[in-house]
Amino acid sequence: MNPSIVNFVYIVASVLFIFGIKMLGKAETARKGNAISAVGMLIAVVVTLFDRQILDFADAYSWAILGGSLALGVIIGAFAAKKVKMTSMPEMVALLNGFGGLASLLVGWADYYFKAVANSAAVDTFTKIATVAAVVIGGITFTGSVYAWGKLSGKISGRAKVYAGQKLVNGFVALVTLVAAISFSAWPDSNIAYYALIASVVLSLLLGVVAVMPIGGGDMPVVISLLNSLSGLAASAAGFVIQNNVLIVAGCLVGASGVILTVIMCKSMNRTLGNVLFSGFGSSSSKGAQKVDGEMKAISTDDAYYVLEAAQNVVFIPGYGMAVAQAQHAVKELAEILENNGAEVNFAIHPVAGRMPGHMNVLLAEADVPYEQLKEMEEANRILETADVAIVIGANDVVNPAAAEDKGSPIYGMPIIEAFKAKTVFALKRGKGTGFSGLENSLFFRPNTRMIYGDAKATVNELVSKFKDK
Ligand code: NDP
Repeated sequence: MNPSIVNFVYIVASVLFIFGIKMLGKAETARKGNAISAVGMLIAVVVTLFDRQILDFADAYSWAILGGSLALGVIIGAFAAKKVKMTSMPEMVALLNGFGGLASLLVGWADYYFKAVANSAAVDTFTKIATVAAVVIGGITFTGSVYAWGKLSGKISGRAKVYAGQKLVNGFVALVTLVAAISFSAWPDSNIAYYALIASVVLSLLLGVVAVMPIGGGDMPVVISLLNSLSGLAASAAGFVIQNNVLIVAGCLVGASGVILTVIMCKSMNRTLGNVLFSGFGSSSSKGAQKVDGEMKAISTDDAYYVLEAAQNVVFIPGYGMAVAQAQHAVKELAEILENNGAEVNFAIHPVAGRMPGHMNVLLAEADVPYEQLKEMEEANRILETADVAIVIGANDVVNPAAAEDKGSPIYGMPIIEAFKAKTVFALKRGKGTGFSGLENSLFFRPNTRMIYGDAKATVNELVSKFKDK
């Protein structure tokens, strides 16, 4: 195919990727953005098939191989996407990242093998550097992502696994990997260089595991976002290896967006990336926080109903527990009832509520909660100053006043939804369990807070039926 046409189509595909990603930034346009990016990818794939003459029209075998793999990919992808629960989305993303990394590793490895080893062709140093970058970053991404998936899905313990001298061991593995990668790039003899490449493959696979091992299950979304960025970089390096412009651009976009998301998540938790990766957060319960005295006072749904019935301004504050209970549809029903009863209703969304960025937005959008009721933290905190009732639904850390008041607390400095400002706070949770950080929450002990114990969905449904019965 004419290279100008190919590059023009690649530019069109890249523009579609960029617009698609931009549209993912808003819940209203996210679906369309996803579809636009997918169309860009389809165009890029089809043009590459023709350009590289991968598809031979006259050859039935070529059709069978490509058609077969395409059909298999579509079936597995569609089935997995349909079946995956919203709470398991980070696990699915982890696996997809991992396979992206593995693909880049295989592309780099195969390209060098067929060129330099099987056909004794010369490979320039730049291509060798790109090859080993695709292999090493892809390898780390693959095993790191699979390990992260194991932790998130409960296949292996989610606890941070730490041991004495671990940083030294990890540093050593990283150093040896670097030495193998440099040896491959610099060695003139292609057969010896190939051994260094195989060593890089093995070491990078090991590095992915040992790097993720000391990170707690709760921090996995940040790790996955970082691995997502790495999978982009690996793809970009693979793009240089096979000289495919659209792969380079797409890889860079994934790399950059993954880094931005990682930074946003760290900022929202007021933690540095170094702290997430190396502190072993989640290996033991956190020390240093002030003891919380007093008792949590419970209220029945009967009494809570009377308070809600009179409320003029209600703010829902959803958290991880709402996702676990899958209470979003019940919550939407209660919100509608309260609105029909004359109350102003809003939802306060913390950027790291739940276990993945945008977790609450996605759940509430699924339940058709109007976008204009979803308030970001700053605006929500202003509304809470005059709110009659704040209903905390399975949220804990994101409403913990210790983040603002207790300098010794591990979450000190994390911006929170200031539920405590509301006249009355109803906290819906199953029992006295702590949140992700493992910390006690003084909000639940405050005089204006009442606990409504039970599964969030069951409690909200009970409140709904009280309104319906009266
Ligand atoms: P938390 O994890 O702090 O608390 C969730 C609460 O939900 C628990 O206290 C639990 O209490 C309650 N709960 C669990 N199941 C149910 C149920 N079925 N019904 C009712 N309640 C239930 O959640 P938050 O959303 O407040 O905070 C998120 C945390 O995750 C933050 O610390 C954040 O830093 C962290 N994090 C978030 C990421 C993200 O991208 N969103 C990424 C990485 C970490 P009980 O057991 O008593 O029911």
